[in-house]
Amino acid sequence: MAGKRDEVTIAEVAEALNISKTTVSRAISGKGRVSEATRARVFDYIGKGRQDAAAPLRALDPAASAAPWALRWVASHKNVKVVLSGMSAEDQLDDNLATFGDFRPMTDAENAAIRQTADVLRSHIKIGCTGCRYCMPCPMGVDIPDNFSIWNKLGMFGNKDAIRQQWTARFPDAEKAIHCGRGGKCEAVCPQHLPIRDSLAKLQTELDNL
Ligand code: SF4
Repeated sequence: MAGKRDEVTIAEVAEALNISKTTVSRAISGKGRVSEATRARVFDYIGKGRQDAAAPLRALDPAASAAPWALRWVASHKNVKVVLSGMSAEDQLDDNLATFGDFRPMTDAENAAIRQTADVLRSHIKIGCTGCRYCMPCPMGVDIPDNFSIWNKLGMFGNKDAIRQQWTARFPDAEKAIHCGRGGKCEAVCPQHLPIRDSLAKLQTELDNL
């Protein structure tokens, strides 16, 4: 699910390129009609991380969006009995019905492409925060997952100008990592066992120095 700051980013890209937010969203997700020229402009603006990550999947099936790959990968595990998918638009429902109406288990070649894509994504991500928000609320007011989200976007897309703008102009100062008091309650409940306190200090320095 997109957070409030993800929506801001889509709006920023749309404004910068003078195209609609829907077009930006379609270009990123691979769903819906978007010309290759427009898709290239969007990825040029936001950076190449996600485009490069999907390259092994596009090579096997240029028309498939990310959702069928994800759903087929999950459903191809023999112990998985139910797959849940969050949907917010009718074309997403159509996409999912097409995936499961004619279900094809993953082949070995497809699983290898998924592993390649996952390796690229992992290499770009700064920290493996899933956004579960179990660490919230922070007693110091720090929005821990949103700090990690913007840091990960920097790693994923590499667009320093867009991230600097978002960090300085749109991210509330009171929720920034700098207010961390190093109490550590967050780390005790984080299911990913993340080094939250040290990571907050690191990201604050990194984002302040873009
Ligand atoms: S508990 Fe851990 S994984 Fe969940 S939002 Fe907080 S930092 Fe991220």
